[in-house]
Amino acid sequence: MLETAKGSTASMINPFEVALKQLDEAAKLIKLDKGLHQVLASPKRVLTVSLPVKMDKGEIRVFTGYRSQHNDARGPYKGGIRYHPQGTIDEGKALSMWMTWKCAVADIPYGGGKGGIICNPKEMSDGELERMTRRYAYAIADIIGPHTDIPAPDVYTGGKEMAWIMDTYSALKGNFVQPEIITGKPIAIGGSLGRNEATGRGLGFTVREAAKKLKINMKTATVAVEGFGNAGQFASQFVEEQGAKVIAASDSRGGVYNKAGMEVAALRKHKERTGSVAGFPGAKSMSNEELLEIECTILIPAALENQITGKNAGKVKAKIMAEAANGPTTPEADDILYRNKIMIIPDILANGGGVTVSYFEWLQNLRRDYWTEAEVNERLDRNITKAFLDVYDTHEKYSVNMRKASTVLAVNRVVEAVKIRGLWP
Ligand code: NAD
Repeated sequence: MLETAKGSTASMINPFEVALKQLDEAAKLIKLDKGLHQVLASPKRVLTVSLPVKMDKGEIRVFTGYRSQHNDARGPYKGGIRYHPQGTIDEGKALSMWMTWKCAVADIPYGGGKGGIICNPKEMSDGELERMTRRYAYAIADIIGPHTDIPAPDVYTGGKEMAWIMDTYSALKGNFVQPEIITGKPIAIGGSLGRNEATGRGLGFTVREAAKKLKINMKTATVAVEGFGNAGQFASQFVEEQGAKVIAASDSRGGVYNKAGMEVAALRKHKERTGSVAGFPGAKSMSNEELLEIECTILIPAALENQITGKNAGKVKAKIMAEAANGPTTPEADDILYRNKIMIIPDILANGGGVTVSYFEWLQNLRRDYWTEAEVNERLDRNITKAFLDVYDTHEKYSVNMRKASTVLAVNRVVEAVKIRGLWP
């Protein structure tokens, strides 16, 4: 869960316009048929719902919720549910399109969806949140389903909300337990082992493969991580396990730097105790801006979007930038990084481990057959490594940066499914 107001919601750039621009570029490269381009340019369905909720003091407040279903040519819609006061429908549309591409890059049989409620969960009690969440589940119940659209957590939602949605959906649709309606659940009600670490673990696999391609020795590599939250902590841990040294880390309260390296476990403990990485013993303090520009081998943006822009991209000194966060780099910055031969492992590839283990959770739920953590991690490695190699091959084939390559790969896969299935009627 995110601690600060963030996500595409925090930016002034309309994320749907960015998503359309990325699609246009990919379409041009693969000479996509105009009609098919139009099919992919808008979600198949966007449902908005109005949610009356009785607040603790007795008054009624009405919240707006939505669910955007972008494309289901390759399988059911899949994507998170975001609670944010600055959420917009356009943001949801963009995020649902990115989910289509992310699932296609990971080559899992899902399309893309995204949902949300425009609200400030930080100002709501647990009771209010539960009533709002259950009302939302009721309002979208007819368009989601274990074989049609499977939601998951996103910004400011987690296992608690997923459990309420599962319970409400199960009660409404036959009154028997249906864990496969949603992923990101607590283990006790059908969550998967390894789901919590999956995004960071998957990122670690992509960095390992990128280092092989660039002939970087991980034992001498150094790492800077912006945003030491869920994704950032696990990403640093799995890169550290390969021998790299974390030399800088930050969160919303400040950053720390130690050339000699800082143990991820110790950093995590310090953050748990004090609420921040700031003040970590033996480290110098460092601003977030400085962190992005330090001499290091691997830079991991894991906090906000639009952090690497036309202004600072020229100062990035890392050799690999692995995006744990969604959308941390602007299109202008992408071009500068590519010119400076910095390999970007784009968000839809680098953080695809999360949705991949969500897929594993769904498979386990459907069969009521649960895997060991070792099985989950081994299959994750296989999937993500293949995804990395597929994107890398596309980058070489089209001579484009890894971001364009990942969109091209995804669009090609989705278009193939659309074409094979044909249009009905
Ligand atoms: P989180 O809340 O656990 O962590 C975010 C961290 O960023 C926090 O430590 C916060 O203090 C820090 N932060 C906020 N503002 C900052 C600033 N100005 N400078 C430096 N640090 C700042 O959230 P998370 O789940 O780790 O998500 C982080 C990013 O990763 C988001 O973009 C999210 O969409 C993406 N992501 C996460 C997952 C996942 O499984 N957690 C999966 C896919 C993508």
